[in-house]
Amino acid sequence: MNVAIIGAGLAGLACGCELADAGHRVTLLERRPWAGGKAYSFVDDETGGTVDNGQHIFMTCTTAYIDFLRRIGTLHLTKRQRRLRVAVFDAQGRRSDLAAVPLPPPLHLLPSFATYRHLSLADRARVARGVTAITRVSPDRRNDFDDVTFGDWLRGNGQSESVVRDFWDLIVVPALNCRSDDASAAQALFLFHEGFLASAESAAVGVPMAGLSQLHAEPAVRYIESRGGQLVTRSAIEIIDVRDGRVEAIVTAAGERLVFDAYIAALPPAQLLGVLPESSRAQPPFSSLNVIRMSPIVNLHLWFDRPVLGIDFAAFAGSDLQWAFNRTRIAGAEDSGEEHLVLSQSAADRYADLDKAQLLDLLMPQLRRALPAARSSHLMRSVLIKEPDATFVPSPGLRRPGAATPIENLFLAGAYTDTGWPATMESAVRSGIQAARTVAAWSPQTHPAPVTVA
Ligand SMILES: Cc1cc2nc3c(=O)[nH]c(=O)nc-3n(C[C@H](O)[C@H](O)[C@H](O)COP(=O)(O)OP(=O)(O)OC[C@H]3O[C@@H](n4cnc5c(N)ncnc54)[C@H](O)[C@@H]3O)c2cc1C
Repeated sequence: MNVAIIGAGLAGLACGCELADAGHRVTLLERRPWAGGKAYSFVDDETGGTVDNGQHIFMTCTTAYIDFLRRIGTLHLTKRQRRLRVAVFDAQGRRSDLAAVPLPPPLHLLPSFATYRHLSLADRARVARGVTAITRVSPDRRNDFDDVTFGDWLRGNGQSESVVRDFWDLIVVPALNCRSDDASAAQALFLFHEGFLASAESAAVGVPMAGLSQLHAEPAVRYIESRGGQLVTRSAIEIIDVRDGRVEAIVTAAGERLVFDAYIAALPPAQLLGVLPESSRAQPPFSSLNVIRMSPIVNLHLWFDRPVLGIDFAAFAGSDLQWAFNRTRIAGAEDSGEEHLVLSQSAADRYADLDKAQLLDLLMPQLRRALPAARSSHLMRSVLIKEPDATFVPSPGLRRPGAATPIENLFLAGAYTDTGWPATMESAVRSGIQAARTVAAWSPQTHPAPVTVA
């Protein structure tokens, strides 16, 4: 089959690899000059170093993503923990680690939690009660809690306002890119079941050592090309031309009409709605796409003249800081004597209108307080990257579409589709593979497509 994949983000790339492996002829159409979508890297003019548009991490439980890296031959470009260990610094620079030990969950987190100094003994007891409540919800009952927020669910299970803010949001905000009060309880329960409580290893963190474009986009495109497919960049699709319940052609911004047997829209929901005809937009599942809210992530890259963090990454409690990643150390370049740190701020609505100077004014004093080694350091350079529509918000009651659509030869992929996973690389890869398999199971022979390209 000749298959068009519109959008060369991770979902489109994973879909393309799967279809190319199954012997289909894949054409990836991407509006930007490069592939990678929400996960790409570029070379910083001044330092000559590689900079990601946003720090990305994965966990051992994200098996489809790990398999994808294995498939395109780049898993060795990641650094992976065996078991979870995160250093958490409070506003005064006191460190306490959350770490898993080889015990059955939830006992694997107990030893570090027992000595976790950023919560009082009473609050730790509350969290333990919350964890017990999470383990009591069986995975097949999670969806019973899809209409309430995780914040309300936590309060209903004995968690105080301060514990929701200082403990649960420490995990929920970076993982779901929204606060507990904005997330569906079902989605957050999924996160804790699959990520933190599945096994002693499931929450171990992996980080890319190379830039995201070297890790995903470039090798995935090579993989597809070596199997007869192609990537066409600067090719924005403006119209999906639907007649009599099937796609007849897609039309590029340059006015070219392209005809394929099947079409996979691997686009974010707003962009998909923008290219569909009005009559389709009113139809389920498309009609519910306009309620999907997107949430921003802000990354502040900081180049210091000396090591200030000294470990691969850390989280912060009790300040505006969320997570810091030591790109120099992760890339194995700590001998340089300098340190490239990335401050990653999720659910970043409050930073949307701040420029780099304002953000530095807000965060640098807090960073210098929280990391004693930063106090005497010199900040040599900084770069701010804002991704306003980084991920979708897993709001209560959200209906996510599957791969098949009422339009016979149109299929959907994208992190926002119904994979069960939050807006992650895992969800994007799963959605791509799901769409590829749905297309492969569908036969154009029974519904022959016109073979003209006009
Ligand atoms: C700053 C940031 C940090 C993140 N951190 C993490 C993390 O730590 N861990 C994690 O797992 N996930 C993280 N994510 C989320 C993850 O990157 C996304 O869920 C995933 O990359 C989405 O992939 P996608 O293919 O579904 O969508 P996208 O990446 O949005 O791909 C859609 C593609 O379609 C293209 N396109 C749009 N319109 C058109 C058109 N009309 N014609 C042709 N092409 C078009 C776009 O240019 C894009 O390339 C992060 C995201 C961001 C932005």
